Amino acid sequence: MRVNAYAAPAEGLPLVPTTVERRPVGPTDVLVAVEYSGICHSDLHTVRGEWGPRPYPLVPGHEIVGTVAEVGARVTAHRVGDRVGVGCLVNSCGQCAPCAGGDQQYCTAGPVFTYGSTDVDGSTTQGGYATHLVVDAGFVLSVPAGLDPAAAAPLLCAGITTYAPLRRWGAGPGRRVAVVGLGGLGHLAVKIAHALGAEVTALSRSPKKEEDARRLGADHFSATADPATFSTLAGRFDLLLNTVSADLDINAHLGLLTLDGVLANVGAAPGPLLVDGHRLGSGRRVLTGSMIGGVAETREMLEFCAAHGITADIELIPAASINTAYERVLAADVRHRFVIDAATFV
Ligand code: NAP
Ligand code: ZN
Repeated sequence: MRVNAYAAPAEGLPLVPTTVERRPVGPTDVLVAVEYSGICHSDLHTVRGEWGPRPYPLVPGHEIVGTVAEVGARVTAHRVGDRVGVGCLVNSCGQCAPCAGGDQQYCTAGPVFTYGSTDVDGSTTQGGYATHLVVDAGFVLSVPAGLDPAAAAPLLCAGITTYAPLRRWGAGPGRRVAVVGLGGLGHLAVKIAHALGAEVTALSRSPKKEEDARRLGADHFSATADPATFSTLAGRFDLLLNTVSADLDINAHLGLLTLDGVLANVGAAPGPLLVDGHRLGSGRRVLTGSMIGGVAETREMLEFCAAHGITADIELIPAASINTAYERVLAADVRHRFVIDAATFV
């Protein structure tokens, strides 16, 4: 079926309305009628060519909430009318050790990402800035009833990307956690770390987002543009989560960690992280990274967010405003996530 969508016609060009083909619903597929689609900074990195060449035209979007419009004959987990979500993954080999362990995002054969990937049938995946998509049922998540569907969409990427390392590295009572960058990922990281019981510090470039940060659940706030921040907070944090979309002075931030402290990097700036080994070794510090999360972990995250009343703070926009929204994301002028109303993909 051909469906309405918004696509970048080529690298670096504004998105335009178009149509894309969706495969027929196979026995294990679900046809999702998209209601809401979040704008992640990864969409911008991708279509601006910051992560290397991609196939075009390209429909971004991997924070998708909608309803089930049709299911294949062998699908039992989802029924027509159910509210569901789709994140960054739409398939994986299912055989390798990471897949067997529930880490489909680290599939050794290469996970199939929601857009710009080669799908199992050889076609190129096209994402959620569209009215419909067809996804293998194993990668379709139930969205708990208590969550507002528009504000839940960003949980499918920003939520799981921050939940996974916060859980893995023990954010919880008695632990001091710093979140760097208060964009889409960062604002959810503050909410989630707070709900996990950690003592949360928000680190943002300027003081402009302080009030926001405290409302989101931060116990403390510091502006990183102030060099005094790095001496005042030296050696303070057990865990620091970097969600910044641009190059970061990673060594200055490593200095904020306590002995054995962990810097978990999820920001995906195009350039390399230039790490001073001395800074790492002098506090036996750990530098690690994390990429989204597996299917079961995403399910767990959605249940956690429903139990704690966590959704994103969003600005709902029509599709015609996507390019303006991209400009505002680049200027970090969004509190804190743009979500597109899929009814406007016309
Ligand atoms: P976003 O909403 O644009 O937020 C990024 C934040 O980074 C901004 O709000 C800003 O925070 C800070 N920032 C922006 N430009 C900066 C600069 N030049 N110097 C210092 N700080 C700057 O982006 P997002 O959607 O949250 O995504 C954040 C990053 O995570 C992106 O690189 C994205 O690709 C990546 N990501 C990774 C994964 C993964 O699996 N690892 C998943 C999703 C996204 P302040 O204004 O508070 O300083
Ligand atoms: Zn994303």
